Amino acid sequence: MRLTVGILIAAAVLAYGQDKDFKSSSTTVPMKITILGSGGGPRPNPIRYGISILVEAEGEKLLFDCGRGAVIRLAQAGIREGEVDKVFLTHLHSDHILSIPDLLLTGWGEQGRNTPLRVWGPTGTKSMMNNLLKAFEFDIHIRRDVDEKFSKEGVAVAATDIQEGTIYQNRGVKVTAFLVDHGPVKPAFGYRVDAGGHSVVMSGDTRFSENLIKHASGVDVLIHEVGGRDINGFLASGLTREQAESIIDHHTSPEQTGMVFERTKPRLAVYAHGGNAEAVAEARKTYTGPLEVADDLSTILVGDRVEFMHRVQ
Ligand SMILES: [Zn+2]
Ligand SMILES: [Zn+2]
Repeated sequence: MRLTVGILIAAAVLAYGQDKDFKSSSTTVPMKITILGSGGGPRPNPIRYGISILVEAEGEKLLFDCGRGAVIRLAQAGIREGEVDKVFLTHLHSDHILSIPDLLLTGWGEQGRNTPLRVWGPTGTKSMMNNLLKAFEFDIHIRRDVDEKFSKEGVAVAATDIQEGTIYQNRGVKVTAFLVDHGPVKPAFGYRVDAGGHSVVMSGDTRFSENLIKHASGVDVLIHEVGGRDINGFLASGLTREQAESIIDHHTSPEQTGMVFERTKPRLAVYAHGGNAEAVAEARKTYTGPLEVADDLSTILVGDRVEFMHRVQ
Protein backbone atom coordinates (compact mmCIF):
# COMPACT_ATOMS: atom_id res chain seq x y z
CA MET A 1 0.00 0.00 0.00
CA ARG A 2 1.27 3.42 -0.85
CA LEU A 3 0.75 6.22 1.49
CA THR A 4 1.02 9.74 0.24
CA VAL A 5 1.63 12.39 2.79
CA GLY A 6 1.04 15.95 1.77
CA ILE A 7 2.40 18.82 3.74
CA LEU A 8 1.07 22.28 3.21
CA ILE A 9 2.84 25.18 4.75
CA ALA A 10 0.82 28.33 4.51
CA ALA A 11 2.51 31.67 4.28
CA ALA A 12 1.93 34.05 7.11
CA VAL A 13 0.09 37.03 5.70
CA LEU A 14 0.57 40.29 7.48
CA ALA A 15 -1.70 43.11 6.46
CA TYR A 16 -1.26 46.80 7.10
CA GLY A 17 -3.89 49.46 6.52
CA GLN A 18 -7.31 50.56 7.61
CA ASP A 19 -9.61 49.70 4.71
CA LYS A 20 -12.25 47.34 6.16
CA ASP A 21 -13.58 46.47 2.69
CA PHE A 22 -10.34 44.84 1.64
CA LYS A 23 -11.23 41.35 0.36
CA SER A 24 -8.23 39.10 -0.14
CA SER A 25 -4.73 38.87 -1.47
CA SER A 26 -6.01 37.19 -4.65
CA THR A 27 -7.83 40.37 -5.61
CA THR A 28 -6.02 42.29 -8.31
CA VAL A 29 -3.94 44.97 -6.65
CA PRO A 30 -2.29 48.01 -8.25
CA MET A 31 1.21 46.88 -7.36
CA LYS A 32 2.95 43.62 -6.54
CA ILE A 33 6.52 43.52 -5.28
CA THR A 34 8.56 40.30 -5.21
CA ILE A 35 11.83 40.24 -3.32
CA LEU A 36 13.78 37.84 -5.53
CA GLY A 37 16.97 38.02 -3.49
CA SER A 38 17.30 39.42 0.00
CA GLY A 39 20.93 38.77 0.92
CA GLY A 40 23.33 41.51 1.96
CA GLY A 41 26.79 41.96 0.46
CA PRO A 42 28.83 39.89 -2.00
CA ARG A 43 29.38 36.79 0.16
CA PRO A 44 27.49 33.77 -1.28
CA ASN A 45 24.52 32.76 0.83
CA PRO A 46 22.59 29.65 -0.23
CA ILE A 47 19.46 30.82 1.58
CA ARG A 48 19.43 34.51 0.70
CA TYR A 49 20.50 35.25 -2.87
CA GLY A 50 21.76 38.61 -4.15
CA ILE A 51 19.59 41.70 -4.03
CA SER A 52 16.97 41.87 -6.77
CA ILE A 53 13.42 43.20 -6.61
CA LEU A 54 10.63 42.77 -9.15
CA VAL A 55 7.87 45.39 -9.24
CA GLU A 56 4.74 44.55 -11.24
CA ALA A 57 2.18 47.25 -11.96
CA GLU A 58 -0.16 48.16 -14.83
CA GLY A 59 1.00 45.08 -16.76
CA GLU A 60 4.66 46.10 -16.51
CA LYS A 61 7.44 44.01 -15.01
CA LEU A 62 10.31 46.15 -13.75
CA LEU A 63 13.45 44.68 -12.22
CA PHE A 64 15.50 46.65 -9.71
CA ASP A 65 19.06 45.32 -9.39
CA CYS A 66 19.98 41.87 -10.58
CA GLY A 67 22.11 40.16 -7.96
CA ARG A 68 23.27 36.55 -7.81
CA GLY A 69 20.53 34.02 -8.51
CA ALA A 70 17.91 36.50 -9.74
CA VAL A 71 17.01 34.38 -12.78
CA ILE A 72 16.58 31.25 -10.67
CA ARG A 73 14.26 33.12 -8.32
CA LEU A 74 12.28 34.48 -11.29
CA ALA A 75 11.78 30.88 -12.44
CA GLN A 76 10.68 29.91 -8.93
CA ALA A 77 8.22 32.81 -8.96
CA GLY A 78 6.77 31.41 -12.19
CA ILE A 79 7.97 34.30 -14.36
CA ARG A 80 9.70 33.71 -17.68
CA GLU A 81 13.01 35.53 -17.83
CA GLY A 82 12.11 36.77 -21.30
CA GLU A 83 9.19 38.75 -19.89
CA VAL A 84 11.56 40.90 -17.88
CA ASP A 85 13.16 43.32 -20.29
CA LYS A 86 13.57 46.45 -18.16
CA VAL A 87 16.29 46.58 -15.52
CA PHE A 88 17.10 49.51 -13.23
CA LEU A 89 20.46 49.44 -11.45
CA THR A 90 21.09 51.33 -8.24
CA HIS A 91 24.88 51.13 -8.62
CA LEU A 92 27.44 48.82 -10.16
CA HIS A 93 28.73 46.92 -7.12
CA SER A 94 28.97 43.26 -8.11
CA ASP A 95 26.37 42.03 -5.63
CA HIS A 96 23.76 44.14 -7.44
CA ILE A 97 24.57 43.11 -11.01
CA LEU A 98 26.01 39.58 -11.15
CA SER A 99 22.97 38.02 -12.85
CA ILE A 100 22.71 40.50 -15.70
CA PRO A 101 24.47 38.18 -18.18
CA ASP A 102 22.12 35.39 -17.09
CA LEU A 103 19.05 37.57 -17.70
CA LEU A 104 20.47 38.86 -21.00
CA LEU A 105 21.32 35.44 -22.42
CA THR A 106 18.82 33.12 -20.77
CA GLY A 107 15.90 35.50 -21.28
CA TRP A 108 16.61 35.59 -25.00
CA GLY A 109 15.53 33.05 -27.60
CA GLU A 110 13.39 30.22 -26.31
CA GLN A 111 12.60 32.17 -23.14
CA GLY A 112 10.78 34.70 -25.25
CA ARG A 113 12.62 38.00 -25.38
CA ASN A 114 12.86 39.26 -28.95
CA THR A 115 13.28 42.92 -28.13
CA PRO A 116 16.40 44.56 -26.66
CA LEU A 117 17.10 44.27 -22.94
CA ARG A 118 16.68 47.80 -21.59
CA VAL A 119 19.00 48.76 -18.75
CA TRP A 120 19.17 52.01 -16.81
CA GLY A 121 21.88 52.74 -14.27
CA PRO A 122 24.62 55.11 -13.15
CA THR A 123 27.56 56.23 -15.24
CA GLY A 124 29.34 53.13 -16.50
CA THR A 125 26.18 51.11 -17.17
CA LYS A 126 26.34 51.54 -20.93
CA SER A 127 30.00 50.60 -21.05
CA MET A 128 29.44 47.55 -18.84
CA MET A 129 26.60 46.30 -21.02
CA ASN A 130 28.64 46.74 -24.22
CA ASN A 131 31.50 44.84 -22.62
CA LEU A 132 29.15 42.03 -21.57
CA LEU A 133 28.09 41.65 -25.19
CA LYS A 134 31.78 41.31 -26.09
CA ALA A 135 32.44 38.83 -23.28
CA PHE A 136 29.65 36.55 -24.48
CA GLU A 137 30.16 37.07 -28.20
CA PHE A 138 30.81 33.37 -28.89
CA ASP A 139 27.46 32.23 -27.47
CA ILE A 140 25.64 35.17 -29.02
CA HIS A 141 27.16 34.48 -32.44
CA ILE A 142 26.37 30.74 -32.35
CA ARG A 143 22.78 31.08 -31.18
CA ARG A 144 21.98 34.17 -33.27
CA ASP A 145 23.83 33.50 -36.52
CA VAL A 146 24.64 29.80 -36.78
CA ASP A 147 22.52 27.34 -34.82
CA GLU A 148 19.10 28.31 -33.41
CA LYS A 149 19.00 31.65 -35.28
CA PHE A 150 17.39 33.41 -32.32
CA SER A 151 16.28 36.97 -32.91
CA LYS A 152 18.97 39.61 -33.38
CA GLU A 153 16.93 42.20 -31.50
CA GLY A 154 16.44 39.93 -28.49
CA VAL A 155 20.11 39.87 -27.67
CA ALA A 156 20.64 43.56 -28.29
CA VAL A 157 20.98 45.95 -25.38
CA ALA A 158 19.58 49.46 -24.95
CA ALA A 159 21.48 50.89 -21.99
CA THR A 160 21.25 54.38 -20.53
CA ASP A 161 23.52 56.14 -18.05
CA ILE A 162 21.01 58.08 -15.99
CA GLN A 163 20.79 61.29 -14.01
CA GLU A 164 18.47 62.02 -11.11
CA GLY A 165 14.84 62.48 -12.24
CA THR A 166 12.02 60.66 -14.01
CA ILE A 167 13.63 58.03 -16.17
CA TYR A 168 10.75 55.82 -17.30
CA GLN A 169 7.06 56.41 -17.81
CA ASN A 170 4.58 54.09 -19.50
CA ARG A 171 0.98 52.88 -19.02
CA GLY A 172 0.57 54.90 -15.82
CA VAL A 173 3.81 53.62 -14.29
CA LYS A 174 6.49 56.15 -13.42
CA VAL A 175 10.03 55.36 -12.28
CA THR A 176 12.03 58.13 -10.61
CA ALA A 177 15.73 57.86 -9.77
CA PHE A 178 17.16 59.89 -6.92
CA LEU A 179 20.70 60.23 -5.61
CA VAL A 180 21.68 58.44 -2.43
CA ASP A 181 24.99 58.47 -0.53
CA HIS A 182 27.00 55.27 -0.88
CA GLY A 183 30.31 56.88 0.10
CA PRO A 184 32.81 56.87 -2.76
CA VAL A 185 30.47 54.88 -5.02
CA LYS A 186 29.20 57.82 -7.04
CA PRO A 187 26.68 58.20 -8.39
CA ALA A 188 24.47 55.72 -6.55
CA PHE A 189 20.70 55.84 -6.92
CA GLY A 190 17.53 54.86 -5.13
CA TYR A 191 14.32 54.39 -7.11
CA ARG A 192 10.69 55.25 -6.60
CA VAL A 193 7.88 53.61 -8.57
CA ASP A 194 4.44 55.25 -8.72
CA ALA A 195 1.46 53.41 -10.22
CA GLY A 196 -2.28 53.46 -9.68
CA GLY A 197 -2.01 55.93 -6.82
CA HIS A 198 0.47 53.72 -4.96
CA SER A 199 4.21 53.80 -4.52
CA VAL A 200 7.34 51.96 -3.47
CA VAL A 201 10.82 53.31 -2.79
CA MET A 202 13.94 51.17 -2.92
CA SER A 203 17.03 52.65 -1.29
CA GLY A 204 19.77 50.77 -3.09
CA ASP A 205 22.94 50.97 -0.98
CA THR A 206 23.24 54.16 1.01
CA ARG A 207 24.29 55.83 4.19
CA PHE A 208 21.64 57.81 6.03
CA SER A 209 20.33 60.01 3.20
CA GLU A 210 18.27 63.19 3.50
CA ASN A 211 17.56 63.00 -0.24
CA LEU A 212 16.05 59.55 0.23
CA ILE A 213 13.86 60.88 3.05
CA LYS A 214 12.66 63.62 0.71
CA HIS A 215 11.70 61.14 -2.03
CA ALA A 216 10.25 58.50 0.31
CA SER A 217 8.07 60.74 2.42
CA GLY A 218 4.62 59.14 2.80
CA VAL A 219 5.41 56.27 0.43
CA ASP A 220 3.38 53.06 0.73
CA VAL A 221 6.38 50.74 0.98
CA LEU A 222 9.96 51.72 1.79
CA ILE A 223 12.48 48.97 1.10
CA HIS A 224 15.70 50.04 2.80
CA GLU A 225 19.14 48.55 3.05
CA VAL A 226 20.64 47.94 6.48
CA GLY A 227 24.34 47.60 7.17
CA GLY A 228 26.01 45.23 9.59
CA ARG A 229 27.74 46.87 12.54
CA ASP A 230 29.56 43.78 13.80
CA ILE A 231 33.17 44.72 13.14
CA ASN A 232 34.41 41.42 14.62
CA GLY A 233 32.34 39.52 12.08
CA PHE A 234 34.02 41.46 9.25
CA LEU A 235 37.47 40.88 10.78
CA ALA A 236 36.77 37.15 11.13
CA SER A 237 35.94 36.99 7.43
CA GLY A 238 39.46 38.21 6.60
CA LEU A 239 38.98 41.95 6.16
CA THR A 240 41.36 44.44 7.75
CA ARG A 241 39.97 46.84 10.34
CA GLU A 242 40.28 49.68 7.84
CA GLN A 243 38.33 47.76 5.19
CA ALA A 244 35.65 46.79 7.70
CA GLU A 245 35.27 50.36 8.94
CA SER A 246 35.01 51.63 5.41
CA ILE A 247 32.22 49.13 4.57
CA ILE A 248 30.34 50.01 7.75
CA ASP A 249 30.69 53.70 6.99
CA HIS A 250 29.08 53.37 3.55
CA HIS A 251 25.82 51.85 4.80
CA THR A 252 22.95 52.77 7.12
CA SER A 253 22.98 51.44 10.68
CA PRO A 254 19.82 49.71 11.97
CA GLU A 255 19.18 52.58 14.37
CA GLN A 256 19.54 55.07 11.50
CA THR A 257 17.06 53.11 9.37
CA GLY A 258 14.61 53.53 12.24
CA MET A 259 15.13 57.27 12.03
CA VAL A 260 14.52 57.16 8.27
CA PHE A 261 11.29 55.18 8.76
CA GLU A 262 10.15 57.51 11.53
CA ARG A 263 10.65 60.55 9.29
CA THR A 264 9.13 59.06 6.11
CA LYS A 265 6.30 57.13 7.79
CA PRO A 266 5.77 54.43 5.15
CA ARG A 267 2.73 52.17 5.48
CA LEU A 268 5.28 49.36 5.56
CA ALA A 269 9.06 49.40 5.97
CA VAL A 270 11.05 46.40 4.72
CA TYR A 271 14.63 45.21 4.99
CA ALA A 272 15.52 43.35 1.80
CA HIS A 273 19.34 43.61 1.52
CA GLY A 274 20.46 41.89 4.70
CA GLY A 275 18.61 42.57 7.91
CA ASN A 276 17.56 40.25 10.72
CA ALA A 277 15.80 40.24 14.08
CA GLU A 278 18.77 41.96 15.74
CA ALA A 279 18.61 44.82 13.25
CA VAL A 280 14.88 45.15 13.85
CA ALA A 281 15.49 45.34 17.60
CA GLU A 282 18.01 48.15 17.04
CA ALA A 283 15.62 49.99 14.70
CA ARG A 284 12.93 49.76 17.37
CA LYS A 285 14.90 52.28 19.44
CA THR A 286 13.83 54.95 16.98
CA TYR A 287 10.79 53.52 15.12
CA THR A 288 7.66 51.69 16.25
CA GLY A 289 5.74 51.36 12.95
CA PRO A 290 5.37 48.34 10.64
CA LEU A 291 8.71 46.72 9.72
CA GLU A 292 9.36 43.36 8.06
CA VAL A 293 12.53 41.46 7.14
CA ALA A 294 12.13 39.95 3.67
CA ASP A 295 13.42 36.56 2.73
CA ASP A 296 13.80 35.42 -0.88
CA LEU A 297 10.44 35.34 -2.68
CA SER A 298 8.64 37.38 -0.04
CA THR A 299 5.86 39.28 -1.77
CA ILE A 300 4.21 42.57 -0.96
CA LEU A 301 0.80 43.50 -2.36
CA VAL A 302 0.13 47.21 -2.39
CA GLY A 303 -3.45 48.39 -2.66
CA ASP A 304 -6.04 49.64 -0.21
CA ARG A 305 -4.00 47.65 2.24
CA VAL A 306 -0.40 46.57 2.15
CA GLU A 307 0.07 42.82 2.58
CA PHE A 308 3.42 41.21 3.29
CA MET A 309 3.83 37.48 2.73
CA HIS A 310 6.87 35.39 3.47
CA ARG A 311 7.84 32.80 0.90
CA VAL A 312 5.43 29.87 0.53
CA GLN A 313 7.43 26.67 1.11
ZN1 LIG B 1 24.82 46.12 -1.70
ZN1 LIG C 1 27.10 48.77 -2.75
